[in-house]
Amino acid sequence: MKCPYCKQADSRVIDSRAAEDGATIRRRRECNGCGKRFTTYEVVEKLPLMVVKNDGRREVFKRDKILNGVIRSCDKRDISMERIVALVNEIERDVRNTMEQEVKSSKIGELVMERLKDFDEVAYIRFASVYRKFADITSFVDELNKLQAHKTEEQK
Ligand SMILES: [Zn+2]
Repeated sequence: MKCPYCKQADSRVIDSRAAEDGATIRRRRECNGCGKRFTTYEVVEKLPLMVVKNDGRREVFKRDKILNGVIRSCDKRDISMERIVALVNEIERDVRNTMEQEVKSSKIGELVMERLKDFDEVAYIRFASVYRKFADITSFVDELNKLQAHKTEEQK
């Protein structure tokens, strides 16, 4: 960090504080050469979360993709947009809480299904059938059975 007065690179930080937006850090520095003070701003870089698709290609995580998938799954169900958005917020938090820089798309699908399971049964099955692109009826029945088991668990 060069001093704007004497261009010397040697300075020390005398004060640091986060700016109002929380993403910027303001630092007061004092030049070790001329003793003058100046201010620098550091912007916290938000690294994009990457999604690794099944074929290995990567794309930037887009919450809208999840939102659209959930909306489609909830088609003609008596579910308000408000509840859907709240659900997607929870899912996004789950995804970001993995604290990974790269998340497998399959992992995201699992997180969505985990939330949908307790949200709406029909939406869950719809999402699962599209998401997993059921290759055969067996896997679909497996999914139904899992759901059944899940419900039985809850009744205990
Ligand atoms: Zn200086």
